[in-house]
Amino acid sequence: MRTASSASAAPSGPPSVRRRPSVARVLRAAALAAALLAAPREARAEPAIPALVDSFAAATIEDRRWLHAHPELSLREHATQAYVREKLGSIPGIEIIPGEWGTGLVALLRGGAGEGPVIGYRADIDALPITEATGLPFASTARDTLGGRDVGVMHACGHDLHAAILLGTARVLSAARDRFGGTVLFVVEPAEEIGAGASLLLEAGVFEDGRKPEAIFALHDHPTILLGQAGYCPGRSAANVDEFRVRVIGKGGHGAYPHRAIDPVVIASEMILALQKIVSREVDAARQAVITVGSIHGGSATNVIPESVELRGTVRTLEPEVRRQVQDAVLRTIKGIAQAAGAPAPEIEYVLGTPSCFNDPVLVESILPVLRDVLGEENVLRYEPAMGGEDFSFFQEAVPGVIFRLGVGRPEREMSTHSPAFDPDERAIPIGMRLMSEILLARLTLSQD
Ligand SMILES: [Zn+2]
Repeated sequence: MRTASSASAAPSGPPSVRRRPSVARVLRAAALAAALLAAPREARAEPAIPALVDSFAAATIEDRRWLHAHPELSLREHATQAYVREKLGSIPGIEIIPGEWGTGLVALLRGGAGEGPVIGYRADIDALPITEATGLPFASTARDTLGGRDVGVMHACGHDLHAAILLGTARVLSAARDRFGGTVLFVVEPAEEIGAGASLLLEAGVFEDGRKPEAIFALHDHPTILLGQAGYCPGRSAANVDEFRVRVIGKGGHGAYPHRAIDPVVIASEMILALQKIVSREVDAARQAVITVGSIHGGSATNVIPESVELRGTVRTLEPEVRRQVQDAVLRTIKGIAQAAGAPAPEIEYVLGTPSCFNDPVLVESILPVLRDVLGEENVLRYEPAMGGEDFSFFQEAVPGVIFRLGVGRPEREMSTHSPAFDPDERAIPIGMRLMSEILLARLTLSQD
């Protein structure tokens, strides 16, 4: 998720916080799983999914801590990729698919119970240019250079949890692979934070060569949802994220003689205010849109009218029609105000970025029984669409998909993603493994024996 948002409904009632499995419990479960796997097939009672999750929980939490301590910026996830490749590749039955995936990975797990559909599961892996301030024993001390600046690097959006949960789910499904027919497509996506990873993988053919899934699933950790809870949003759940950059061109001159100049500072100011009227006066009040001019640069002295001013902004919308409407209105407004001032035509760059997420309502309905069964009805919360961005939407344009929120919140303190203090409760990892395993199994063909 690329913008912290806290638009979800406040959870009602006390959460049923799942306790982290004790070491002894994990070891017992592991011993049980080993004994069952060693038994002759006909005498074997398959370990249930919760027991498998327990048996792999400790290793998967270790993965998360390693990933957390080794965060890497978008498109630079080399160590992360190597780590995930090694761990995934060592899971029985997992096939790593070669391809031009950049710093991502694509892998398959084929079930042993005959034919069945391909079902996709995506997790993102990149970190952010933020200096960590959690004080955790496995906190990041990583630094990198971004735009010529030295920056701290931190998993401040929980993509370390996402990657670990994918590894844990792969372990669980690998141990259970005799029970299903069909194939799980694991998509390890780089560069989500800059909205580049999903399109990179799609262009490289992640869904080609028989890998096009019938449906694709993802989760995102969410700090306003408590541990033990999950959130869902049918339909449009995250925004179209578009950007514009405008160079307002005037005619420079002396600040005392504006009549001999064309003042781009005044023109830019009018543009900023007029852009706000698009949202308040042109877009249907029942629809969502946000225009934010986040950057304005121009001028160097009190008494000099500059040659030009640069404006940069972000536009967030949900529906495709509103997206087009606002784009047209922004361009019209900027050109019109420049023209009215007698200024040269401004240079405008308008970039259509990540489209809005569309959670297929039928698929959402299909995962609700799993969420409710695992977490309890009262812990499955519907949330309202938020204006953040999430590039899982590119996959959802290709095949039906659902992204849901996994609670990592702590009742004792508020947190937000993309902040130096973001410290998701990692006890959510086995919960995520359980949910993803069951969601995927529910769509695969289950063996009848
Ligand atoms: Zn994120």
